Amino acid sequence: MINIPKGTKDVLPQDSYKWQYVEGVARETAKLFNIKEIRTPVFEHTELFQRGVGDTSDIVTKEMYTFKDKGDRSITLKPEGTAGAVRSFIENGMYNGVLPAKMYYIIPAFRYERPQAGRLREFHQFGVEIFGAKGAQTDAEAILVADALLKKLGLKVQLYINSIGCKTCRANYNSALKAFFAPHLDSLCYDCKTRYEKNPLRLLDCKEEACKKINAGAPKMLDYLCEECSEHFESLKSYLDGAGVEYTIDPRIVRGLDYYTRSVFEFVSTSIGAQGTVCAGGRYDGLIEELGGNPTPAVGFAAGIERLLIVMEQTGVEIPAPETPKVYLAGMDSACRRKAFELACALRANGILAEIDHMDRSVKAQFKYADKIGARFVAVIGGNELAEGKANIKRMATGESESVAFENIVEYFKNE
Ligand code: ATP
Ligand code: MG
Repeated sequence: MINIPKGTKDVLPQDSYKWQYVEGVARETAKLFNIKEIRTPVFEHTELFQRGVGDTSDIVTKEMYTFKDKGDRSITLKPEGTAGAVRSFIENGMYNGVLPAKMYYIIPAFRYERPQAGRLREFHQFGVEIFGAKGAQTDAEAILVADALLKKLGLKVQLYINSIGCKTCRANYNSALKAFFAPHLDSLCYDCKTRYEKNPLRLLDCKEEACKKINAGAPKMLDYLCEECSEHFESLKSYLDGAGVEYTIDPRIVRGLDYYTRSVFEFVSTSIGAQGTVCAGGRYDGLIEELGGNPTPAVGFAAGIERLLIVMEQTGVEIPAPETPKVYLAGMDSACRRKAFELACALRANGILAEIDHMDRSVKAQFKYADKIGARFVAVIGGNELAEGKANIKRMATGESESVAFENIVEYFKNE
């Protein structure tokens, strides 16, 4: 017996409608904002993520699924969606096209993590990226897409925002952070000691309790923003106010990725504890140039679909049930079953969801089965019916039945 790999999950046929629902709402939401889908490969050259996600990020240092292909190239299964979208934006010369370039994706993402509820090794993201616009209005729009999605899904979440400034102001802040953390170095976790050297901002993102405690007293980026970054942040807040979106400023949000500048944000559900961040994003003005493109500002976010589904389940959000068969055609013997088969073909050709027996069950067992699969009608064809060219149609909800000629069956169900 070969089992499913650790940290992965099957979506079974009886559950896939929940995924389709969330994905459908995500697509509809994107459409409202005039955002079109981009599809990029599931794997990319490893270097794309090393440069695009950042050498000091947890993703690159610990979590990537990297392997050599048969041509000896280093390949990585995508751990997130932004790097691939940026690569494609550059490679396809999209800055020569219509800007802003808005795009969304629904992708599997792969990270070698310690599996827990809401934390998998293969998970799924709905992500949005907007390239080419630098104003805070666009940051607000990205947040509004996420907000619209979460509202349509019926989720109650809190929005946290912060600014992590730009290269200039962050340099000062990093020095302040280092000065603050220097006396605490011995108490920090192993990873944070490296972060201290390589990327102090990331110290604030640590999930270890001991580090979190120390972090609470750390200086705040917002106190170090340069004038332009400060104006950008004020502007973002005013757009959010104008849109009636509530938010809380959280100076500890820095995001795990190296390429973020200025706005960062997270939508957090209070109902699922540790893995409560359902959606996260921000501005990444430096990334496109970093990956070899013309300098282009950009902003985006990604929502974890598994986490959305967990929150929906835990807070009792009802997902519309999938359509059940309108009619089950039950046949008594093989001649009757053949007629049932033909009628099912005609019904389906007319867009009517019809089901028949595949298991050689008795009529009684077929009725039971029809009930189980939620068929609204059962059309029974016994020896007499076959001889008379009619089926006996029973409405399952009321038990009423009537006789309908074979040639009228399609019409009958079209009107039901
Ligand atoms: P976390 O802090 O929870 O590790 P992250 O900062 O690594 O999250 P991002 O890279 O910003 O997450 O990914 C965006 C979203 O994707 C997250 O907010 C979350 O909803 C989802 N996500 C991230 N990692 C996983 C995972 N391993 N399993 C399931 N969902 C995930
Ligand atoms: Mg993570």
